[in-house]
Amino acid sequence: MTGDTAQGKSGNSHTILMIGAILAALLLAWLAPAVAVKLKLGGEVFLRLLMMVVVPLVMASVMSGILGLGDVRKLGRPGAMAITYYLTTTVLAVGTGVLIVNLFSPGVGLDATELLQDIDTDHAADIERIEENADGPKSIGDIFHKMVLMLFTSNLLKSMVEAELLPLIVFSIVFAGMLTTMGDRSKTIRELIVSVNDAMMNFVMFLMKFAPIGIFCLVAASFGSFFLSGDAGRKIASLGWYMATVLTGLGIHAFITLPFILWMFTKRSPLQFYKQMSDALLTAFSTASSSATLPVTMECAEHKAGVSRRSVEFVLPLGATINMDGTALYEAAAAIFMAQIYAGANPDFAFGFTEQVIIAVTATLAAIGAAGIPEAGLVTMLIVLNAVGLPTIYLPLILPVDWLLDRFRTATNAFGDSVGSAVVDKSFPTEADVAA
Ligand code: ASP
Repeated sequence: MTGDTAQGKSGNSHTILMIGAILAALLLAWLAPAVAVKLKLGGEVFLRLLMMVVVPLVMASVMSGILGLGDVRKLGRPGAMAITYYLTTTVLAVGTGVLIVNLFSPGVGLDATELLQDIDTDHAADIERIEENADGPKSIGDIFHKMVLMLFTSNLLKSMVEAELLPLIVFSIVFAGMLTTMGDRSKTIRELIVSVNDAMMNFVMFLMKFAPIGIFCLVAASFGSFFLSGDAGRKIASLGWYMATVLTGLGIHAFITLPFILWMFTKRSPLQFYKQMSDALLTAFSTASSSATLPVTMECAEHKAGVSRRSVEFVLPLGATINMDGTALYEAAAAIFMAQIYAGANPDFAFGFTEQVIIAVTATLAAIGAAGIPEAGLVTMLIVLNAVGLPTIYLPLILPVDWLLDRFRTATNAFGDSVGSAVVDKSFPTEADVAA
């Protein structure tokens, strides 16, 4: 048996174990929710272990990616390609969201007053959290201002402590670029960076051995608390059509648009690629966090899908922070859903083509600005609502199912990044260029 086949087989059985863990967790949450919620600690530990490696991994991998290129200027073409990919796929996702929500019209004829009365107190804290952010940026100019500032930090250590990945990536690119100009004087630190990066990747592979247990605990605890809150069926039913809208949109993006792009640019088999990336997709579903999933996405892309290390190191960390197709699609669909409800109650509310375009543009920006953490999209949704003058009173409406939709959009986000790493891989200079 060749090494590859052996690795492929063990990869398959690991994926089967992860799927089994999710199914078993769902069953436990359904049958014995009170027991399932007790597993929260295990889930939290797994999440923390993943988050623990994110900052050192992102910094070491971006730096070692630049060092591998030998010269930061060689990043021009792949950099342009990556930004083009991120933007194109995000815009396609938003377009799908807008189209589907207009076709399905989940908010048309919905009685919001009745639904709002149903929102129970266990969401009070969430509502407060969202309202705290209600004074966020109002105009598109404000959003740009905020986004430019998000790239830079005045305190590197603070950004590390708070896991703000964007300024860390900017610093890592500039710092490693400078190291490449220092010749022998930077040899020790360059070797150190490359070896820290190798060690971090090995550490992630080690952590993945525990993933089925971690995922089991995470899924059991969150679904358990949902079932424990009672009336789970009614919550899902009253928002069923809205959920179907978002899930259909995500399905189109993840199973038609992205696989088509993958096949068109790389000629890879989408089915094979899903399989290779399955551990990352399942982790994204279980953690609802692109950042926590990042180490797993990098591991799968490089070791299972065979994407070059330089593309993985460059495209995935940046993608996990700014390329969120699922979030963008959801923000557009959810905002238009709320607009449909609002328009039903206020016939004077003007909601036409222009408003839809504004929602599409701001949803794109809101997704770029959203952090890769659970339900971050809910907070940046305020940007979208503010832009078209929609009140935030309907935001609590979507809370009861947001944690669930979050899992699907995070998996879509992770898949979008993975496809990006395979597509952008094609635009890196060849080994011969690097040697030159
Ligand atoms: N949870 C998502 C992520 O980490 C962001 C969101 O849509 O809320 O990718």
